[in-house]
Amino acid sequence: MIIVLRPDATEAQISHIIDKVTKLGLKPMVSRGVERTIIGLIGPEDVIQAQPLEAYPGVEKVMPILKPFKLVSRDFRPQSSVIDLGNGVKIGGEKIIVMAGPCSVENRDGLIAIAKKVKAMGASVLRGGAFKPRTSPYSFQGLGEEGLKYLDAARKETGLLIVTELMDIRNIELVVKYADIIQIGARNMQNFDLLKEVGKIKKPILLKRGMSSTIKEFLMSAEYIASEGNLNIILCERGIRTFEDFTRFTFDVNAIPAVKSLSHLPIIADPSHGTGKWNLVSAVSKAAIAAGADGIIVEVHSNPEEAFSDGEQSLLPENFGKMIDDLKKVAEAVGRKL
Ligand code: PEP
Ligand code: MN
Repeated sequence: MIIVLRPDATEAQISHIIDKVTKLGLKPMVSRGVERTIIGLIGPEDVIQAQPLEAYPGVEKVMPILKPFKLVSRDFRPQSSVIDLGNGVKIGGEKIIVMAGPCSVENRDGLIAIAKKVKAMGASVLRGGAFKPRTSPYSFQGLGEEGLKYLDAARKETGLLIVTELMDIRNIELVVKYADIIQIGARNMQNFDLLKEVGKIKKPILLKRGMSSTIKEFLMSAEYIASEGNLNIILCERGIRTFEDFTRFTFDVNAIPAVKSLSHLPIIADPSHGTGKWNLVSAVSKAAIAAGADGIIVEVHSNPEEAFSDGEQSLLPENFGKMIDDLKKVAEAVGRKL
């Protein structure tokens, strides 16, 4: 249920409603828009239904949200969310945010070198996995905390923000200590316990779409995070499984405008995993930005041939630079900046 407040509702009236519903055992989620404030209520339907909410001072109307995802829907927050990532970097507004770096953190100096290059070419976030979800248990599994320390060193050296994956609930404190943005990978999109835990922290969460998940399931996973209080969620379309096997996955460009119409959350594109082929990354990035993506996350490696993971989809820095130049033109054509 959402309580839509009158445009002239006072702070005292808002606090009064929050106090009252909290005492009833409900969880109020407040969304402050330019025109009006909306309060979402989480809790048992019978308790909500029993309240004469429309009689509370400052209330204009009370409406059920009919969609299964509630806090992440545009019914709860009609305006697009702009999420503060730190360092003055914001996602969801006019500016398209570029996240780039290797698939896995491999060593300190290599990471710092690539971080400096992608920063010079327009990235504001460095990506790199220290805990890697690999299909084979015999493949490189990531450097763990050592990798997180290298990410921290690269952040100190370049001023870039860090996005890195959290795979296991037992590592939450460790990853939160180092990361600016916590990535939940495609394979964990429906790890509901993990989603609930990251919902309890305040840091932004990058939630990747499961490779066999529908858009509705994707938004329901975001709802798990939001329902625990963390609305700092960035969605990521990273390709889905189809019958096509020329590419690693099929990048679902539809998901971008679809998610934008259903949800206020920002959505970015991962053309690296979405294609699995470095030579397709630039074209798919252009399509994603033209379709309304708020950012891209791209794998870049100084020597893809020797990469510990995903070399075949990693761009060389010079190709990344060329791609960014092209993307600037696409961004401008759709009224964005990069
Ligand atoms: C990654 O970003 O390196 C990764 C493993 O992504 P996904 O979870 O989308 O496969
Ligand atoms: Mn990868």
